[in-house]
Amino acid sequence: MDTTSLSPPSSPDTLTDRDVMLSIAREVIEARAARDGYTPGAYDAKHDPEGYVTSLVNALHQWCARYRIDWEKELIRAQGFFEQDLAESEPETVSLPLPTIQELQCPACGNREAFVIEVSECLVLFRDGTVLHGDPGEQWGDWSYCRCHACDHAGTVYQFRTINQAEGEVQSNG
Ligand SMILES: [Zn+2]
Repeated sequence: MDTTSLSPPSSPDTLTDRDVMLSIAREVIEARAARDGYTPGAYDAKHDPEGYVTSLVNALHQWCARYRIDWEKELIRAQGFFEQDLAESEPETVSLPLPTIQELQCPACGNREAFVIEVSECLVLFRDGTVLHGDPGEQWGDWSYCRCHACDHAGTVYQFRTINQAEGEVQSNG
Protein backbone atom coordinates (compact mmCIF):
# COMPACT_ATOMS: atom_id res chain seq x y z
CA MET A 1 0.00 0.00 0.00
CA ASP A 2 1.23 3.43 -0.93
CA THR A 3 1.56 5.53 2.21
CA THR A 4 2.97 8.59 0.47
CA SER A 5 -0.23 9.74 -1.23
CA LEU A 6 -0.35 13.49 -1.77
CA SER A 7 -3.28 15.66 -0.85
CA PRO A 8 -4.75 17.75 -3.68
CA PRO A 9 -2.83 20.97 -4.20
CA SER A 10 -5.70 23.34 -3.55
CA SER A 11 -8.50 21.72 -1.60
CA PRO A 12 -10.73 24.43 -0.04
CA ASP A 13 -9.37 23.97 3.51
CA THR A 14 -5.76 24.57 2.42
CA LEU A 15 -6.32 27.96 0.76
CA THR A 16 -3.69 30.40 1.94
CA ASP A 17 -4.24 34.12 2.38
CA ARG A 18 -2.20 34.53 -0.78
CA ASP A 19 -4.65 32.30 -2.73
CA VAL A 20 -7.54 34.39 -1.45
CA MET A 21 -5.81 37.63 -2.52
CA LEU A 22 -5.11 36.22 -5.98
CA SER A 23 -8.76 35.21 -6.31
CA ILE A 24 -9.91 38.71 -5.31
CA ALA A 25 -7.48 40.24 -7.83
CA ARG A 26 -8.86 38.08 -10.64
CA GLU A 27 -12.43 39.08 -9.73
CA VAL A 28 -11.75 42.83 -9.78
CA ILE A 29 -9.69 42.65 -12.98
CA GLU A 30 -12.51 40.76 -14.67
CA ALA A 31 -15.05 43.25 -13.31
CA ARG A 32 -12.94 46.08 -14.78
CA ALA A 33 -12.76 44.25 -18.13
CA ALA A 34 -16.55 43.81 -18.12
CA ARG A 35 -16.84 47.62 -17.99
CA ASP A 36 -15.12 47.67 -21.39
CA GLY A 37 -17.46 45.06 -22.83
CA TYR A 38 -15.51 41.85 -22.25
CA THR A 39 -17.84 38.91 -21.69
CA PRO A 40 -17.25 36.92 -18.46
CA GLY A 41 -14.06 34.84 -18.68
CA ALA A 42 -13.01 36.32 -22.06
CA TYR A 43 -10.29 38.66 -20.77
CA ASP A 44 -6.67 37.46 -20.36
CA ALA A 45 -6.31 38.65 -16.75
CA LYS A 46 -2.95 36.90 -16.27
CA HIS A 47 -1.23 39.05 -18.91
CA ASP A 48 -3.47 42.11 -18.57
CA PRO A 49 -2.97 43.47 -22.11
CA GLU A 50 -5.32 46.43 -21.51
CA GLY A 51 -3.47 47.59 -18.38
CA TYR A 52 -6.40 47.16 -16.00
CA VAL A 53 -4.06 46.63 -13.01
CA THR A 54 -2.84 50.21 -13.49
CA SER A 55 -6.41 51.38 -13.93
CA LEU A 56 -7.51 49.68 -10.67
CA VAL A 57 -4.57 51.11 -8.71
CA ASN A 58 -5.50 54.54 -10.06
CA ALA A 59 -9.14 53.94 -9.09
CA LEU A 60 -8.15 53.10 -5.50
CA HIS A 61 -5.88 56.15 -5.39
CA GLN A 62 -8.78 58.34 -6.59
CA TRP A 63 -11.02 56.79 -3.95
CA CYS A 64 -8.56 57.55 -1.16
CA ALA A 65 -8.11 61.13 -2.37
CA ARG A 66 -11.88 61.67 -2.62
CA TYR A 67 -12.64 60.29 0.83
CA ARG A 68 -9.48 61.49 2.59
CA ILE A 69 -7.95 58.07 3.24
CA ASP A 70 -4.17 58.21 3.67
CA TRP A 71 -2.97 56.61 0.40
CA GLU A 72 0.71 56.40 1.38
CA LYS A 73 -0.18 54.64 4.60
CA GLU A 74 -2.42 52.20 2.74
CA LEU A 75 0.47 51.34 0.41
CA ILE A 76 2.80 50.69 3.34
CA ARG A 77 0.27 48.52 5.16
CA ALA A 78 -0.50 46.63 1.93
CA GLN A 79 3.23 45.95 1.49
CA GLY A 80 3.34 44.56 5.02
CA PHE A 81 0.40 42.21 4.39
CA PHE A 82 1.94 41.20 1.05
CA GLU A 83 5.19 40.17 2.73
CA GLN A 84 3.27 38.35 5.46
CA ASP A 85 1.14 36.39 2.95
CA LEU A 86 4.23 35.56 0.93
CA ALA A 87 6.08 34.26 3.99
CA GLU A 88 3.08 32.16 5.08
CA SER A 89 2.65 30.62 1.63
CA GLU A 90 6.25 29.35 1.67
CA PRO A 91 6.38 26.69 4.41
CA GLU A 92 10.17 26.41 4.26
CA THR A 93 10.51 30.00 5.46
CA VAL A 94 11.91 30.09 8.99
CA SER A 95 9.85 32.48 11.08
CA LEU A 96 11.75 35.11 13.05
CA PRO A 97 11.18 35.61 16.77
CA LEU A 98 8.93 38.55 17.67
CA PRO A 99 10.62 41.92 17.15
CA THR A 100 11.87 44.01 20.04
CA ILE A 101 12.39 47.77 20.02
CA GLN A 102 16.11 47.28 20.78
CA GLU A 103 16.75 45.60 17.43
CA LEU A 104 15.11 48.27 15.26
CA GLN A 105 17.09 50.67 13.11
CA CYS A 106 15.90 53.12 10.47
CA PRO A 107 17.01 51.73 7.07
CA ALA A 108 17.21 55.31 5.71
CA CYS A 109 19.14 57.27 8.37
CA GLY A 110 20.34 54.70 10.91
CA ASN A 111 18.37 56.15 13.85
CA ARG A 112 17.88 53.63 16.68
CA GLU A 113 16.39 55.86 19.35
CA ALA A 114 12.69 56.29 18.62
CA PHE A 115 10.02 54.99 16.24
CA VAL A 116 6.34 55.69 15.66
CA ILE A 117 4.70 52.25 15.62
CA GLU A 118 1.03 51.48 15.10
CA VAL A 119 -0.19 49.18 17.87
CA SER A 120 -3.54 47.52 18.37
CA GLU A 121 -5.25 46.82 21.66
CA CYS A 122 -8.64 45.41 22.59
CA LEU A 123 -10.43 47.58 25.16
CA VAL A 124 -13.66 47.03 27.05
CA LEU A 125 -15.70 50.24 26.62
CA PHE A 126 -18.63 50.83 28.97
CA ARG A 127 -21.63 53.09 28.36
CA ASP A 128 -20.64 55.29 31.34
CA GLY A 129 -17.23 56.05 29.83
CA THR A 130 -15.26 53.46 31.81
CA VAL A 131 -12.45 51.86 29.80
CA LEU A 132 -10.82 48.56 30.78
CA HIS A 133 -7.63 47.36 29.12
CA GLY A 134 -7.63 43.84 27.69
CA ASP A 135 -5.26 41.19 28.99
CA PRO A 136 -2.85 41.01 26.02
CA GLY A 137 -2.23 44.76 26.20
CA GLU A 138 -0.80 46.66 23.26
CA GLN A 139 0.22 44.42 20.38
CA TRP A 140 2.53 45.05 17.43
CA GLY A 141 4.68 42.91 15.20
CA ASP A 142 6.60 42.58 11.97
CA TRP A 143 3.68 43.82 9.86
CA SER A 144 2.85 46.92 11.90
CA TYR A 145 3.25 50.37 10.37
CA CYS A 146 6.55 51.90 11.51
CA ARG A 147 7.95 55.41 10.99
CA CYS A 148 11.36 56.78 11.93
CA HIS A 149 11.06 59.51 14.56
CA ALA A 150 14.16 61.23 13.19
CA CYS A 151 13.66 61.34 9.41
CA ASP A 152 10.01 60.22 8.88
CA HIS A 153 11.03 57.28 6.67
CA ALA A 154 8.05 54.90 6.81
CA GLY A 155 7.58 51.18 6.28
CA THR A 156 6.77 48.07 8.28
CA VAL A 157 8.50 46.94 11.49
CA TYR A 158 9.87 44.02 9.44
CA GLN A 159 11.78 46.47 7.25
CA PHE A 160 13.20 48.23 10.32
CA ARG A 161 14.66 45.08 11.89
CA THR A 162 18.44 45.08 11.60
CA ILE A 163 18.34 41.33 10.87
CA ASN A 164 16.53 42.12 7.60
CA GLN A 165 18.87 44.89 6.47
CA ALA A 166 21.82 44.11 4.22
CA GLU A 167 25.32 44.84 5.48
CA GLY A 168 26.46 48.38 4.66
CA GLU A 169 22.97 49.49 3.64
CA VAL A 170 22.85 52.08 6.41
CA GLN A 171 25.35 54.90 6.16
CA SER A 172 25.90 55.66 9.84
CA ASN A 173 28.32 53.63 11.92
CA GLY A 174 28.33 53.25 15.67
ZN1 LIG B 1 15.37 57.64 9.79
